[in-house]
Amino acid sequence: MVKPSFLLSVDCDDWYHNGWIAGRPSCKFNNYKTFQSKYGGEGLRKPVRQIIKIFKRHGISKATFFVQGEIAEEYPDVIELLNDLNFEIASHDLLHFAPVLFSKEELYKNIKKSCSLIRKITKEPPIGYRAPNLMVDDTLFSVLKKLSFTYDSSICPSLPISGHYGNIKYPQYPHMLKNGILEFPITVSPFIPLPAGSAWVLRNIGLWWVKLAIKWQLKKYKVASFFFHPYEVSNLAPYKVPGLPFHVLKGIPMLKKLESLLSYFASRTKLMCYREYIESNF
Ligand SMILES: [Zn+2]
Repeated sequence: MVKPSFLLSVDCDDWYHNGWIAGRPSCKFNNYKTFQSKYGGEGLRKPVRQIIKIFKRHGISKATFFVQGEIAEEYPDVIELLNDLNFEIASHDLLHFAPVLFSKEELYKNIKKSCSLIRKITKEPPIGYRAPNLMVDDTLFSVLKKLSFTYDSSICPSLPISGHYGNIKYPQYPHMLKNGILEFPITVSPFIPLPAGSAWVLRNIGLWWVKLAIKWQLKKYKVASFFFHPYEVSNLAPYKVPGLPFHVLKGIPMLKKLESLLSYFASRTKLMCYREYIESNF
């Protein structure tokens, strides 16, 4: 029997990238360096090494890392290591501002720069994109088309939650957008569609919810997805940053849930990156 496909990805946000700290142009720390100079932190090297170890433990050799241009610039060695290990490197925009905050021209410039910063390391342009904070609109999709992206994975076809997500009119399975960009939606729950395929949900709702939704989606569409962030495998407790919400600080319990999820699906599905799924299905 052919195993269903499990699309695993990591959005390479450092912990300061979440919307409360640096997710909007109006935020005080609007780039990586200004934030690091005040608060420091362990950065991405340690958590990414930990992710590689976790993947090895579960026999996972395929995943997509969505990388911001500024992260590729700050940590070229980390992205090079991931690329050398054959993980797919895709774009997570330039900084971590929602694309909907920019004009079409600014957006084009930002995403193009993110591609060239990634290309400098990987020697090839990224074919995939994920929007910071999963905020999308038609302008973004036309920019992605203009920049020759093959796919996007930013639509969460769920009910809206405090102004986020809510792109319920879109299908819950991989499909072609009107302009020919392939869309890989974020996995949602059955019956009442709510976000499910992310570590935010794993942290704040629980392992049972994520497992239930992924199992349902695998059964119905033969493909599901899950993504997490490097800061979710870190211990963030020492960093006292005003505005960092308590639910980000999960440490070890989060790690246990993540390992349990990966262990469950690594044996029951074919874990792959987006590029590989496209190569074998389209
Ligand atoms: Zn992100």
